[in-house]
Amino acid sequence: TEACLKEAGDAKALNAFVHDTPEQAREQAKAADARLARGDAPAMCGIPLGIKDLFCTKSVGSQAASNILSGFRPEYESTVTQNLWDAGAVMLGKLNMDEFAMGSSNETSAYGNVVNPWRRAGDDTPLTPGGSSGGSSAAVAADLCLAATGTDTGGSIRQPAAFTGIVGLKPTYGRCSRWGVVAFASSLDQAGPMTKTVRDAAIMLEAMAGYDPKDSTSAEIPVPDFEAMLTGDIRGSKIGIPREYRMDGMPGEIETLWARGAEMLRDAGAEIVDISLPHTKYALPAYYVIAPAEASSNLARYDGVRYGHRAKLAQGDGIVQMYEKTRAEGFGPEVQRRVMIGTYVLSAGFYDAYYNRARKVRALIKKDFDDVFATGVDAILTPATPSAAFGLGEMAEADPVQMYLNDVFTVTVNLAGLPGISVPAGQDDRGLPLGLQLIGRPWEEGALLNTADVLE
Ligand code: GLN
Repeated sequence: TEACLKEAGDAKALNAFVHDTPEQAREQAKAADARLARGDAPAMCGIPLGIKDLFCTKSVGSQAASNILSGFRPEYESTVTQNLWDAGAVMLGKLNMDEFAMGSSNETSAYGNVVNPWRRAGDDTPLTPGGSSGGSSAAVAADLCLAATGTDTGGSIRQPAAFTGIVGLKPTYGRCSRWGVVAFASSLDQAGPMTKTVRDAAIMLEAMAGYDPKDSTSAEIPVPDFEAMLTGDIRGSKIGIPREYRMDGMPGEIETLWARGAEMLRDAGAEIVDISLPHTKYALPAYYVIAPAEASSNLARYDGVRYGHRAKLAQGDGIVQMYEKTRAEGFGPEVQRRVMIGTYVLSAGFYDAYYNRARKVRALIKKDFDDVFATGVDAILTPATPSAAFGLGEMAEADPVQMYLNDVFTVTVNLAGLPGISVPAGQDDRGLPLGLQLIGRPWEEGALLNTADVLE
């Protein structure tokens, strides 16, 4: 804990931690020492973690990287973080992210961007750590903490993990409680671990997960000992390679990485099969209707009354002006864009054409996966991202759709509610980390982690 606190203090330039909690860290570390001395040491005992700012942590600033929540200190602790503290983990502080988890580069944060600790060989251009869990990925990659929590609505754990050479797991929808996690798109949001190794992800997921009556979508399914499932034996398992993920213009290095990954799994005794997920090309448009629709509804609660920021009002301003001014000041441009898109696709007259159609497409995407798993496929191998980490500012200056295209390989998993993991699997020709994604059957994170361990 002391070493991490020092590292984090020395690495302020990365802008990964946004609220430090050294007193709490030292207190929890002491308690962990006492537990160790008593011989009562759960797996996470004394492990110093960073927590994404989207998680409500009692009495500690929890702003979802938004100005509209400035000064918000929750009265309660999210279930996932409480589970981690109960398992003996230590909180170093809160980590930067895209505002309300909307983004793929951590550049929409009210705290400013995060810097990826990696650089292209011979080039000092600062790079994005990915998003929206960019503070988490940078902090783990730069050794500021041993692991971090992330959340993933359309790729926000897996893409930043790929951009920083770490492991990121998005569990099955319903595996980790969403209670106390600031909502973005409730039918897609899922918390998960961001770690240095697959084994760490197995240990941390077990601590985070579990049924929670406070989240109506939390599943009453037992949490197995994921670490014990890392046998290294994947002989006889069937891995699908979806042809629709072979996008036009895919960089050669991504293709090579993907082929090498398949090779490694084959060498370990898996059978590699070609599969088809025919509705893949509709995933991104469906996601960018459903996610903003749910976000516009979830974000309606930020009204200047219940939480955080309220605008200064002029003489004669009424409640409508109060809402307008507060929301205009409090929300950044990307969040405002999502609220506008979401409100539009949900509005009478457009609801059927956009939102309802996107829901139907979502059902077809889910069915694509069900059909493939019904043929005996155990996991699906794809690239995690279409490229390595890009330069800060590079995409943000292009139109927003360019940024959305980054999520092309990750959003299907959220739409279908499946577990997905990104594993560091190689480097591009400029030395930057690249990730491969494995997609698993629902509730089979254990088998998924075991397969991922072979790739690592
Ligand atoms: N990049 C996607 C978005 O901006 C996904 C974000 C996420 O998973 N939280 O919506």
